[in-house]
Amino acid sequence: MCAAERKEKDKGFRHSKSLGQNFLKDDGVIADIIEGSEIAEDDLVIEIGPGAGALTKAAADAAGKLVAIEIDKRLIPVLEARFAGRDEVEIINEDILKTDLNAIIDRDRTERGGAGKVRIIGNLPYYITTPIIMKILEEGVKADSITAMMQKEVADRISAAPGSKTYGALSVAVQYYCEVTKICDVGRHLFVPQPKVDSAVIRMDVRGEKPVEVRDEKVFFQCIKAGFGQRRKTLLNSLQGAAGADKARVEEVLSQTGIDKNRRAETLTIEEFAKLADCFAQGQ
Ligand code: SAM
Repeated sequence: MCAAERKEKDKGFRHSKSLGQNFLKDDGVIADIIEGSEIAEDDLVIEIGPGAGALTKAAADAAGKLVAIEIDKRLIPVLEARFAGRDEVEIINEDILKTDLNAIIDRDRTERGGAGKVRIIGNLPYYITTPIIMKILEEGVKADSITAMMQKEVADRISAAPGSKTYGALSVAVQYYCEVTKICDVGRHLFVPQPKVDSAVIRMDVRGEKPVEVRDEKVFFQCIKAGFGQRRKTLLNSLQGAAGADKARVEEVLSQTGIDKNRRAETLTIEEFAKLADCFAQGQ
């Protein structure tokens, strides 16, 4: 039993299922996450959902500053007691989906002179894994990387390559913003309470430059959404409605881009989605 687990048990803590509270109890996995996130001594670490602090201590020991955002107010005194006297650790009782992360980053830049990188880490609450990741990416949070534990199935979808069964809108969206690397798989038995599914840790390095340049990001994401919205249909059928296009317009765009109208979205690379989107955007 690790220190964090012992502490919760001592306090008779009741885990909240609705807040996705499956606490990590394995020091080896904690070490893998810290190593995989490459935290350096100048870095600002933002931790999502510290729980009882299983990851927090190791991350704070490696970083220059750590800000942990936890929604459950019952855990705040536990965390404050654990990090009493450590000025470089700040605990915020907030919903991560409502937190202004760039304000935290800007404040740290002012206070510490801002030399290091910004590393977001977390054993994410399962019920909002995708909204958390998409919030960070779509809001343009000034982070260098996100190293996150999530359900293995979601990690596989994010990392998937074209042509695979798990490749979908989430794969294209995350890979547009980030380079994705798998860190490790984590069995369900390493959590308290034990969830019904296994987990995995992936690292998403936010790209300085996107892998494709698109004329209009809105149209690009409309194409992805439409294509995968009806993933069993051919592009000729699934893309109707994307960017307001009718069947004739979709046929014209597919012919102009040289993409076979009988292919399905799950076979398209990011570059092909960009080509389609640019062609749709041109005609608007
Ligand atoms: N980091 C701890 C660990 O690894 O043992 C806890 C991880 S647990 C899977 C997810 C944590 O996220 C819980 O502490 C939960 O209370 C917190 N959480 C859930 N929803 C949240 C939200 N919207 N904003 C911030 N924290 C949240």
